[in-house]
Amino acid sequence: MTAPNERDLLAALPTGLFIGGEWTPAEGGGRLPVFDPATGELLVEIADASAADAVHALDAAVAAQESWAATPPRRRSDILRRAFDLVRERSESLALLMTLEMGKPLAEARGEVVYGGEFLRWFSEEAVRISGRYGLNPEGTGRMIVSQRPVGPCLFITPWNFPFAMATRKIAPALAAGCTVVIKPPELTPLTTLYFVQLLVEAGLPAGVVNVYTTRRSSVTSAPLIADPRLRKLSFTGSTEVGRRLLAQAADRVLRVSMELGGNAPFLVFDDADLDQAVEGAMVAKFRNIGQACTAANRFIVHESVADEFARRITARVASLKVGRGTDDGVQIGPLIDDRAVAKADELVRDAVERGASVLTGGNALTGPGTFFEPTVVAGVRPGSAILHEEIFGPVLAIATFADEDEAVRLANDTDYGLVSYAFTRDLARGHRLIDRLETGMMGLNVGVVSNAAAPFGGVKQSGIGREGGPEGIHEFLSTKYTLIPAD
Ligand code: NAD
Repeated sequence: MTAPNERDLLAALPTGLFIGGEWTPAEGGGRLPVFDPATGELLVEIADASAADAVHALDAAVAAQESWAATPPRRRSDILRRAFDLVRERSESLALLMTLEMGKPLAEARGEVVYGGEFLRWFSEEAVRISGRYGLNPEGTGRMIVSQRPVGPCLFITPWNFPFAMATRKIAPALAAGCTVVIKPPELTPLTTLYFVQLLVEAGLPAGVVNVYTTRRSSVTSAPLIADPRLRKLSFTGSTEVGRRLLAQAADRVLRVSMELGGNAPFLVFDDADLDQAVEGAMVAKFRNIGQACTAANRFIVHESVADEFARRITARVASLKVGRGTDDGVQIGPLIDDRAVAKADELVRDAVERGASVLTGGNALTGPGTFFEPTVVAGVRPGSAILHEEIFGPVLAIATFADEDEAVRLANDTDYGLVSYAFTRDLARGHRLIDRLETGMMGLNVGVVSNAAAPFGGVKQSGIGREGGPEGIHEFLSTKYTLIPAD
């Protein structure tokens, strides 16, 4: 396979809205510029949809719903499977596009193509396994039939940090279940979705089943869709703050929702942990995606007897990370998404230091072009520091300490979030206790990354509602129907 060229890739990219199987300009010709965060340069301008455009996208999804729901599961499955094969064929182009618009190192973008592609394969397999139940009622007077129906047209709103996987994690199960889709990709990284929808078309997806509108007016365009009685499901991935607002809008119509929201993952290192394993786990849990993951370890909570040694080992690793444009060889840390993200990382480090923490490596924003922050370790973080309560979303590793297991659990659970937790211990009994005691939807026990298409991804508390991936994932797009008929 020849490596794609940046310029050719961008020149060939569709820049319109994809509605009812056609690429169309935005009403009024509005344009949305997309920039490379590593250089600050304009990559391309695409359509900037109005509220009327968004409603047209929903019109198309509604028009296609009945025939897509009636399409045999095997055919839906075959389309998803072909899309999976096409993703594998075009993986280099998808990865490069993601690196250009989001900044992650190319090696990580390739990893996301594999991860995101797996949802297409997984749900192509699930599409033909939607089952029901049949049985006599306890009284013997009736026969009960329980079946699963597609929910109906869905609106998806996705974040910029995983431009491919956040789209496939929603689109694949929806298509498998027989639902049609309107997707609004993030304004900062919309290009990957535009590229991907072409692969769906090439895989044989009928017109109107997936519709895409790009816009800088997220709330103005999504509000009329959420208020529209023809929309049957909202699935959102993004910040808890925006999720809360969308939930309030959805409540007016008692609209079905899935919410994949923010995190504040604790990373516990016990005194009996294999420290080498903990350091390896910490590097991925913290620095994958430049620290910009909802699953990123946000608080390293380390037993006081091993905290100095853990800090020493991790600092040596962090100090050697190579920072640069994601397309350059060997780069491990790309830019943050924008100036605001840099300012936030800077503010959190300053606040932690003012409250008594020390910077062991890094600690500063880098001068441009691009929006870079140095890979950083801050140790001795005191209770009350903002860095322990807010999502850092940057390459900053913050270490606090604990004295015993009860304190570790108390600190870990001391947050409104509950997406994922990590714990490193060689004590099996302790591991089992932690599975029960840590209030998160997911947990990595002696591992630093948990995501897998076959696993139910999602959080508890203010990290969200619902699960994506695994056998659970398709149920977010199915409604249970119970029918009773007389026994004779
Ligand atoms: P964000 O909430 O700012 O934006 C997410 C999406 O919502 C974007 O498409 C944006 O355009 C849109 N949006 C913003 N305001 C809106 C509004 N008022 N009405 C309708 N749509 C609106 O989040 P982000 O900065 O793109 O992503 C980072 C956040 O996403 C972090 O909090 C991260 O933890 C979270 N996240 C969660 C998961 C998960 O699976 N739980 C995965 C990835 C990211």
